[in-house]
Amino acid sequence: MQWEVVIGLETHTQLTTQTKIFSGSPTQFGAEPNTQTSPVDLALPGALPVMNRGAVERAIQFGLAIGATVAPHSVFARKNYFYPDLPKGYQISQMDLPIVQGGRVSFPLEVDGKTEIRSVQLTRAHLEEDAGKSLHEDYHGMTGIDLNRAGTPLLEIVTEPDMRSAAEAVAYAKALHALVTWLGICDGNMQEGSFRCDANVSVRPVGQKEFGTRCEIKNLNSFRFLEDAINYEVRRQIELIEDGGRVVQATRLYDPDKKETREMRSKEDAHDYRYFPDPDLPPLVVSAEWIARVKAAMPELPGAMRERFVRDYSLSEYDAAVLTQSKAMANYFEAVVAAAGKEQAKPAANWLMGDVASTLNREGIEIAAAPVAATQLALLLQRIADGTISNKIAKEVFGAMWDAKSDSAKLADDIIESKGLKQISDSGALEKIVDDVLAANTKSVEEFRAGKEQAINALMGQAMKASKGKANPAQLTELLKKKLTA
Ligand code: ADP
Ligand code: MG
Repeated sequence: MQWEVVIGLETHTQLTTQTKIFSGSPTQFGAEPNTQTSPVDLALPGALPVMNRGAVERAIQFGLAIGATVAPHSVFARKNYFYPDLPKGYQISQMDLPIVQGGRVSFPLEVDGKTEIRSVQLTRAHLEEDAGKSLHEDYHGMTGIDLNRAGTPLLEIVTEPDMRSAAEAVAYAKALHALVTWLGICDGNMQEGSFRCDANVSVRPVGQKEFGTRCEIKNLNSFRFLEDAINYEVRRQIELIEDGGRVVQATRLYDPDKKETREMRSKEDAHDYRYFPDPDLPPLVVSAEWIARVKAAMPELPGAMRERFVRDYSLSEYDAAVLTQSKAMANYFEAVVAAAGKEQAKPAANWLMGDVASTLNREGIEIAAAPVAATQLALLLQRIADGTISNKIAKEVFGAMWDAKSDSAKLADDIIESKGLKQISDSGALEKIVDDVLAANTKSVEEFRAGKEQAINALMGQAMKASKGKANPAQLTELLKKKLTA
């Protein structure tokens, strides 16, 4: 039997407001337990919530960025449940009328070695408050409750069940992560829980119309865990069904040490929460003027920037798409071009997607932490462009710039000078190299003269080697041809 995987994601993004969604307490991560709480967060009797305008504006930004409808009228509801870290006995969330409705997120996905553009339909994104935390670490043999996180603003972003593989779910999650950090509405810090995914997973026989029964894996806070948890869950469900069993709808937890999912509780239904509109909060009204103001203050979006890169710098669609995957990379690219000149746009793109990307990858750091600044890379590109060094030698210079301990030691010119890497363009020196190579490789010379034109490549390679890679390639080729046909 062939199986098709069906995945829908719910992502909790913590919004970057300084204060909580319904109180003035700070939202900073890592403070001493219970130092960032107010009567509202502690659920003291009589304390009333007040909506944080900044949280609403971040939700509006998100809606505009994904082409969704920003509801002119949305409603906060109480989601009732008991848990020690929820002193009110309910979470304030949006149920029937969320602030963001519809929209889509597009992203590149590699399928069978080819890159396709996929697009996932969003169901909704709604505002809600986070709960507190239970601290189970040994605390005098007891569990402690920290309410610092209680009331932190979240935007929960829900997709349609549109994804068909773990790889696609991860690609979507990465694109969403890039978008919310690009907008600055979420800091994207996954270790601190600012961006966490719940994966809804089901399987069905290929060709079947109806969806299978799903399980929901909660709180996946890394892309690796998201991928591994989905793959494990898919295998578990298929084996279960093939062994004659059936999937029971449930909420599951992923254990990264054992690499497996475990049932946490059988799935509750919406009616178990007795949702009802919160009488303490009036409906949220968002006027067209407010939306227009938020829109005017928004940064250029990745899609618009991609089009501009193609238009202004004559980059390919592919290059532009890769460079605009993160705002930091896009900004770095533009800073290199600003310093080196527009005609260096294509070389700059090649360097960023080549040596820079692979070095970042190897060291496991982001472009923002790169030890070579955009202006420093620009100087290197200029030395390639003016023929001082070849592209190959430039890789060596780049490595030295990367490893240099101080800014003053990162100057391409100084490194080229001190290591004696300057390209040999002096015709006397080149002529000597060519003569020696021709004399030592009579076989290749004869082959060339007998009509085998590729023989020049071997000679070129020998000459390059003899110059320790420093010969100016264009001049070298010209000289070789001249001597061979003389
Ligand atoms: P709840 O809020 O109870 O988790 P929803 O019906 O709002 O449930 O769905 C939550 C998520 O589950 C959505 O992302 C949706 O796309 C996804 N989903 C729904 N049905 C399935 C299914 N059969 N297989 C996989 N995902 C599903
Ligand atoms: Mg859910």
